[in-house]
Amino acid sequence: MAPGGGVCKEVIELYPKLANCDISNGKSEKNIKKISNGVGEKHGMPSTSGVHDLLECPICRNLMYPPIHQCPNGHTLCSNCKIRVHNSCPTCRFELGNIRCLALEKVAESLELPCRYQNLGCADIFPYYCKLKHEQLCRYRPYACPYAGSECSETGDIETLVSHLRDDHKVDMHDGCTFNHRYVKSNPHEVENATWMLTVFNCFGRQFCLHFEAFQLGMAPVYMAFLRFMGEDCEAKKFTYTLEVGGYCRKLIWQGVPRSIRDSHKKVRDSQDGLIIPRNMALFFSGGNRTELKLRITGRTWKEE
Ligand SMILES: [Zn+2]
Ligand SMILES: [Zn+2]
Ligand SMILES: [Zn+2]
Ligand SMILES: [Zn+2]
Repeated sequence: MAPGGGVCKEVIELYPKLANCDISNGKSEKNIKKISNGVGEKHGMPSTSGVHDLLECPICRNLMYPPIHQCPNGHTLCSNCKIRVHNSCPTCRFELGNIRCLALEKVAESLELPCRYQNLGCADIFPYYCKLKHEQLCRYRPYACPYAGSECSETGDIETLVSHLRDDHKVDMHDGCTFNHRYVKSNPHEVENATWMLTVFNCFGRQFCLHFEAFQLGMAPVYMAFLRFMGEDCEAKKFTYTLEVGGYCRKLIWQGVPRSIRDSHKKVRDSQDGLIIPRNMALFFSGGNRTELKLRITGRTWKEE
């Protein structure tokens, strides 16, 4: 029999027992206890694996959650697969129609499941819907690659991403809490071909991404430098940083709080949460005949006690 074959039968059998339990309520406490223990063994915490198997979509192997569909012969499948199979049951080829498997949906709703990032360190357990919500915000979920210049799909923990930035994006790595960085560009009028630069700083045993880039802010070409923290937002807030750029006795200073890399590079840039240098000012700081960009950006980061 196909993996989903017995699913609904078994669950339907389970529910009359529950109904009996309600009817007999008050008549025989002993009896109720016995029945509910039996049910408890079925989907109580110690032996949920059987129920997990029932809730595994036989097509895509993901856990099913409402709406759970079934064919007229009782083969179940998840709502994502239902869309893909063009109304034909993948198990028996019968027309699927629109039959829901309400009993299995109830079972799915009653389950407590571990966070999908359990193997990354999350110990939380949730009812199904809370689990889905939690997973979108779980602090153990993998981070996206913070490199901005390309659409990089790499994800992972901080350690993995630091190695990835160094090895695959050839990003400069520096130790220490002070920055002193030179940005040189031979044709500063090509703002459209935005230049992204990323340097990673190691300090306080944590990593910070110093971004520098050219972009168009409304009609005005600008340069922007900002810091992102490789970790969660609540930790990022414990740090403060400054950035300075200047020349010829003029200086621009920015003081801010690093943003978590949970916030995308673009989100931080578009919120203008960093040192913004109008191009005219940048060229003035660069000296020379305004054909070359030569900026020195200095700064430091520290931890608020
Ligand atoms: Zn499926
Ligand atoms: Zn079927
Ligand atoms: Zn979690
Ligand atoms: Zn990457």
